[in-house]
Amino acid sequence: MDVKKLWLAVLEELEKKISRGHLFTYFAETRLMEVVEGKAIVGTPNPFTLETLKTRYSTEIFEALKRVEPRIVQLDFSIVTADPSQKKEAQKHLDREKPHIVEAVEGVSTKFLNQNYRMENFIVGPHNELAMAVAKKVVAEPGMVYNPLFIYGGVGLGKTHLLQAIGNELISKDSKKKVVYTTTEQFMNDLLEALQKTRGEIFRKKYRTIDLLIIDDIQFLFGREKTQEEFFHTFNTLHDHQKQIIISADRPPHELKGIMERLISRFQSGMIAEISEPDVNTRIAILQKKIQEQGLLIDNSLVEYIANNFEGSIREMEGILQQALAHLDLNGELPQGKELSKLIPPKKGIPEITDVSTPQRVVENIAREFQVEPEEVIGDSRKSNVSLARQIAMYIIRKNMNRSYEDIGYMFSQRNHATVLHAVKKIENLSQNDPKILKLLRKFEQ
Ligand code: ADP
Ligand code: MG
Repeated sequence: MDVKKLWLAVLEELEKKISRGHLFTYFAETRLMEVVEGKAIVGTPNPFTLETLKTRYSTEIFEALKRVEPRIVQLDFSIVTADPSQKKEAQKHLDREKPHIVEAVEGVSTKFLNQNYRMENFIVGPHNELAMAVAKKVVAEPGMVYNPLFIYGGVGLGKTHLLQAIGNELISKDSKKKVVYTTTEQFMNDLLEALQKTRGEIFRKKYRTIDLLIIDDIQFLFGREKTQEEFFHTFNTLHDHQKQIIISADRPPHELKGIMERLISRFQSGMIAEISEPDVNTRIAILQKKIQEQGLLIDNSLVEYIANNFEGSIREMEGILQQALAHLDLNGELPQGKELSKLIPPKKGIPEITDVSTPQRVVENIAREFQVEPEEVIGDSRKSNVSLARQIAMYIIRKNMNRSYEDIGYMFSQRNHATVLHAVKKIENLSQNDPKILKLLRKFEQ
C-alpha cells in the first residue's frame, strides 16, 4: 500500500468537506505514517495540530480513509518531525491553484484565482488600509464607484494578493459573476494568439461578457503599442458597460514609462490607491497569520526578531520565516543567535528617498553610500573617502536640519565650528563642479 498516494487521495476527499483555508492550515504538514492491520496512523507536526485534527476532524478523516481504502478500520494520530519531502507532497497538493472561473470565457485563457489569496487572510495596516477600503467598496458595488481601481506599490507588498482576494470575494458573494484575472503578460499572449487565429474584434467581444477584469502588473505593457491599443479598446468597452476594471502596477500611473498618454489618463480617471511598506506591527501580524495558517504555534520572539530586522517585501519576509520553520523541522528547535541573524539578508542599496530625519540617520546613510562605518564618519579617520563622507554628512545636517555649526561640530567628535564651516563651504563648491556629488546630494534632498 502506497501511503503517500493514499494520503493524497484522502486530502482530495477532504477537500469536498473542509474549506481550503482550514485544510491548508491543519493538513499542510500531515502525512499518513503507516497502515498496520487496518489501523491508520496519521502523522502531525506538533501537538497543536494533533489536538485540532483529533477533536475537529477525526470523523471526516476516518470516513475519507475508509472510502479510499476500505480495509482501514481504525485511526490514530502521532507527532512526527516532518520529513521535508513528504511535506512537499501535501503542500504541493494544497498549493496548486484551483480553477475558479465560474464560466470560462471562450478564447480568453486566464490565470485562475488562487484560493489562498482571500480578504480574511489579508492583514490590514496603515500601509494598505486605503487600498483595502476601496477594494471592499468595489466588491460591494462593482463597476459603480471606483472604476477603474488602480493599485500600485513595490514588489512583494501584496498587490496580487489583494487583487485576487477581490475576485474571490466577488465570486463568493455571487457565483454568477464572471471574473477574469490575468497578468499583463498573459493578456499580451492571448491577444497575439487571437490575432493570429481570428481578428481582434472577436477578442474584444469576448471580453465584453466579463463582470470584473483584473489585470496585474500593467507596467509590462511598456512599449507594446499594439497591445496597448487593444487594451485601450477593451478598457473602454468594459468601462462603457459599467464593468469593473482593476489594475495593478509597481508605480503610480503618471510614472509609468512607455505607455500611451490615453491609457494613462484612463488609469487616472478612477481611484488610485497605494500599497506601501508595512510597519513593524503589521509585519508582526502578517507573520503571525502565516504561522497560524500552517497550524503552528511558535514562540513570538521569532516573529518579533524577523519583523524588527527585516523591512520591505513581504514575500521575502515570508521566505525568511519559512527558512526558520524548516530549521525547526530539521533540528527540532528554532534558529537562535547567529543562525537566526544569518537568515536575514543584508540590507540592499540605498532606497530612492533617503531618510534624513535625524543626524544619526544621515550619518548612517552617508556611511552606507561610501561603504564605510558610521563610527569612522563621526570619528577621527583621515582616510580621504571617510573625510569626504564626513564633510558631506555635515553639509546635509546643516542644510536639512538647520543646526548651528557648533552643534554639528559637537556631534562629530567635538570638532570646532570652523571645521564644520569649512566642510559646508567645500561641499557647496564641489556640488557645483562635481556631478557625482550633486547626484548624491539630490538623494538627500527633502
Ligand atoms: P505583489 O503582487 O505586490 O508583488 P503579493 O501579493 O504576491 O505581492 O504578496 C507577496 C506575499 O506576501 C504573498 O504570499 C502574500 O500572501 C503576502 N502578503 C502581502 N501582503 C499581505 C497582507 N497584508 N497580509 C497577509 N499576507 C500578505
Ligand atoms: Mg504581484
